[in-house]
Amino acid sequence: MDSINCLETNVAILGGGPAGYVAAIRAAQLGAEVVLIEEREVGGVCLNRGCIPTKSLLKNSDMARSIKKSKEFGLQTDNVQIDWLSAWTRKERVVKNLRMGLEKLIADHKITLLKGKGIVISPRELLVATAEGSIKVSCHSLLITVGSEAAIPSISGVDLPGVINSDGALELKEIPSSLVIIGAGVIGLEFADMFNGVGTKVTVLELEDRILPGEDKDISEELLKLLKRRGIAFKMGARVKEIRETNGALELAVSEKETMYTAEKVLVAVGRKLRSATADIIKLGIEIDEHGAIVVNEQMKTNIEGVYAAGDIIGGKLLAHLAFAEGRVAIENALGMESRLNYDAVPSCVYTHPELATVGINEQEAGRRGIPVRVGRFDFRQNGRALAMGERDGFVKIVINAEDHVLLGGQILGAQASEMISELTLAVTLGVKVEILADMIHPHPTLSEAIMEACGDAVGRSIHKAINRIN
Ligand code: NAD
Repeated sequence: MDSINCLETNVAILGGGPAGYVAAIRAAQLGAEVVLIEEREVGGVCLNRGCIPTKSLLKNSDMARSIKKSKEFGLQTDNVQIDWLSAWTRKERVVKNLRMGLEKLIADHKITLLKGKGIVISPRELLVATAEGSIKVSCHSLLITVGSEAAIPSISGVDLPGVINSDGALELKEIPSSLVIIGAGVIGLEFADMFNGVGTKVTVLELEDRILPGEDKDISEELLKLLKRRGIAFKMGARVKEIRETNGALELAVSEKETMYTAEKVLVAVGRKLRSATADIIKLGIEIDEHGAIVVNEQMKTNIEGVYAAGDIIGGKLLAHLAFAEGRVAIENALGMESRLNYDAVPSCVYTHPELATVGINEQEAGRRGIPVRVGRFDFRQNGRALAMGERDGFVKIVINAEDHVLLGGQILGAQASEMISELTLAVTLGVKVEILADMIHPHPTLSEAIMEACGDAVGRSIHKAINRIN
């Protein structure tokens, strides 16, 4: 039998994704000895198979689209060819550079990185199968950050070659001529945008009656209109019954009327499955909810003393930036600090063109919660910078408490929405009154003036809105 090496540490972190690696670095900053265990690459899904590679490839389709519009800007760009393999290689390079940077950060912080599968054997012990043999890690505190993976729906034919998930879509070395995407959530729409931009015939099939069912209705309707205008086809209320292979193509039978869709590739994007319910974690006696999420309190502490969890495995919104924050909060609490998160001010972005970025609650959510609200709106077609940029699509919507005018949420559909949402996130975090943003001087001309105008509109004083106040 192989001998087992032993390691003792203050903190052991299982999973080196956004929650895990941020927690590891924060723990090191706080003077703790840290062992970080990762079976694949550090950076997790976000860096290796999610946020970063998708944004790299979305830049290609964005550029392709800009070039198509170039005549409007007086540029002649005939005969433009797309070399997807170069785009793919560039994406790989971006990911590799960031991963090397992260590995250096981990090493610089003297974090022990164990590459291999870790199994929890008790709240204070793990066994890690590394290439060099098994290592037993004993710790004072354990943080579980094992993340999530693409969910596979129970549709007949889902395992056929050519049916891919987001991981497979990022590995395509050629642009598919046609693509059917199952699911109009964040992943479905980002890939629809990406492949539409480089010439693929894209059809999106969504079970619900609208895209991005969790987002503000006005925003999701407008984004649907814009994506359709660009040539992406959508079918709502579509339940895929079967996928089959016919004459080298994939055929999808949808809902009762047996509508058929045909495509070269099918991308399944129906949500993600949490990884928490592994046998070792269940054996530990950790409380797990009906969605498979590890239950934690606001300190990210599980029901087992000394065991914390953060990131996708605690459920809720599966967002890398939330995982960063949860990892930090978990480890600060594990190391004796008092740390909490404000879940009312978590921004969320969809990197389609135009982008969608939201924070706080939307109008419908306020209605469900019985909060009396006022809404402000400002369209980018009335914003000078947007017109100068040729980015007139979309609008900003602001939701305020009707009584005290405190900003409760905001939604931005438009160019650079993901960069602009931080102004609203700060406002929601601080609980500021909308008049503060309406009066705050915004540089001119900028897209962010649309936020100021939407805030003004909520209280009847937008200067540049054609018809002031929509409510
Ligand atoms: P999602 O939950 O956002 O969307 C899945 C969509 O699929 C929903 O609209 C749902 O109604 C639909 N659906 C479910 N079953 C279906 C079926 N059988 N047929 C047709 N439609 C069906 O999930 P996702 O898009 O896979 O993303 C997974 C997670 O990753 C999300 O939590 C998301 O927030 C996160 N993510 C975030 C970003 C970002 O922040 N930009 C990017 C990618 C992923």
